[in-house]
Amino acid sequence: MALVELLLRQARVRPHQAAIFHGTQPHATHVQWAARSAGLARRLTAEGLVPGDRVLLFMTNHPRYLEALWGAWWAGLVVVPVNAKLHPREVEWIIANSGATVGMVTADVAPSALAGLARQIDVASAEADTWFAPVPDPFAVPVVERCPDDVAWLFYTSGTTGRPKGVMLTHRNLMTMGLTYFVDVDSIAPTDVMVYAAPMSHGAGLYAIPHLMAGARHVVPASGGVEPPELFELGWALGPLSTFAAPTIVKRLVDHAEAQGLSPADAARAFKTIVYGGAPMYLADIQRAHRVMGSRFVQIYGQGETPMVGTALSRAQLADAAHPRYVQRMASVGVAQTPVQLRVTDAVGNDLPLGEVGEVVVKGDSVMAGYWRNPEATAAAVRDGWLFTGDVGCLDADGFLTLKDRSKDLIISGGSNIYPREVEEVLLTAPGVAEVAVVGQPDAEWGEVVVAFVVAQPGVALFTPELDAHCLAQMARFKRPKHYRLVDALPKNNYGKVLKTELRAWLALPGA
Ligand code: AMP
Repeated sequence: MALVELLLRQARVRPHQAAIFHGTQPHATHVQWAARSAGLARRLTAEGLVPGDRVLLFMTNHPRYLEALWGAWWAGLVVVPVNAKLHPREVEWIIANSGATVGMVTADVAPSALAGLARQIDVASAEADTWFAPVPDPFAVPVVERCPDDVAWLFYTSGTTGRPKGVMLTHRNLMTMGLTYFVDVDSIAPTDVMVYAAPMSHGAGLYAIPHLMAGARHVVPASGGVEPPELFELGWALGPLSTFAAPTIVKRLVDHAEAQGLSPADAARAFKTIVYGGAPMYLADIQRAHRVMGSRFVQIYGQGETPMVGTALSRAQLADAAHPRYVQRMASVGVAQTPVQLRVTDAVGNDLPLGEVGEVVVKGDSVMAGYWRNPEATAAAVRDGWLFTGDVGCLDADGFLTLKDRSKDLIISGGSNIYPREVEEVLLTAPGVAEVAVVGQPDAEWGEVVVAFVVAQPGVALFTPELDAHCLAQMARFKRPKHYRLVDALPKNNYGKVLKTELRAWLALPGA
């Protein structure tokens, strides 16, 4: 079934229920949403786009994002979601590689990146009102048939190394992802409210699918981004929110709640469920999040190539403090989500015994159809249907996966493997430490040495001998950092992932 049918279904079942909000302002009911998406589909077709053509969405979060998505799908088109903060060079590459000719944009994105497009429409402009003009009867506008294996969402990987690759996600992939939310992540009632704080070009935007399946409400904050005070206020005004947040966003919400002296009950009125993932969540951070905001967290692990579907650590598992392996479970990413098989293998794909560290591989209906126009990269990533994720971890007897690191972040020092995450977890429990990133630095004697970049909590002065003593007390000597760099902030990409490539490049500079 094509994803556009989800909108038609809600336009029939709950036509006049408010569906999209901009801040606290109602933006569209389900039937108005369908009428505008159908209008856009007609217009895109009239402009000469044919099924399978690509439409670029290069926008900060905006209510029209949702209308544009479903409008493109109504016309049988493929959306290419692009993070609004990408470098113009990357966007130029994505436009050329995807062959997109039409782009929906917001006024704040870099115009220089868009030279390759034939048409660009600022979604907040008067011109856009004609593109999104509602049709009188959306049910009279034929939907372009799509097969489950047709591409719906062409997502370019974050590309911290090399050029971004286009991940082809099909209607089947996204339908699977949407249905899985109900089994492995959370229930959704039509009265629920999904808020898009993280960029809609990534996982947060994909969660529109399960929320539309359930006929829930969708809210785009007026700021278009992550402003903790605004999000709490929105939750208190519209009903507790569900959201997807990278660990850095969770941290900001928790910091705000703590600074304002909010209780877990106050947090419960603002947030129903916070799904976190996309980067490591450290044990110390999730424990603090629980203390401050109560039991409203669910973790997922996935990647663009199997979007939002890999493993899940449920609210119940995160709350099961009586379990003998509770702490290990909190530090894990949970168990395989229902539609996928998950294994940990050696380099050639053989299963490793439980507890041994190897590459995480995943198979199931959420796994991408391949990389766009890149059969070599596809063949390297997907072998016999198994997606080689590039993540390294180990499984326990109950099926819980503990991630160590991306394989490329592994540090080999004096011939021993050191997983940066292990060192990071320890350093984060040192008094006064706010954030940490550990990388390897090339070294003539050891091959690589461990370097820790450390950010102090506001108003705290950190001293490396104390950090070193803290590490020595808790980890093998050879794993502890050889050098510490006390920094004001860590470099992160727009999804909140720490850019370890930048840290390594910085260490390689003369005199660094
Ligand atoms: P992306 O394709 O941009 O979504 O990045 C996916 C990568 O983020 C994964 O391959 C992991 O390395 C990392 N990641 C995703 N979820 C988690 C998680 N829950 N814990 C740790 N790392 C994660």
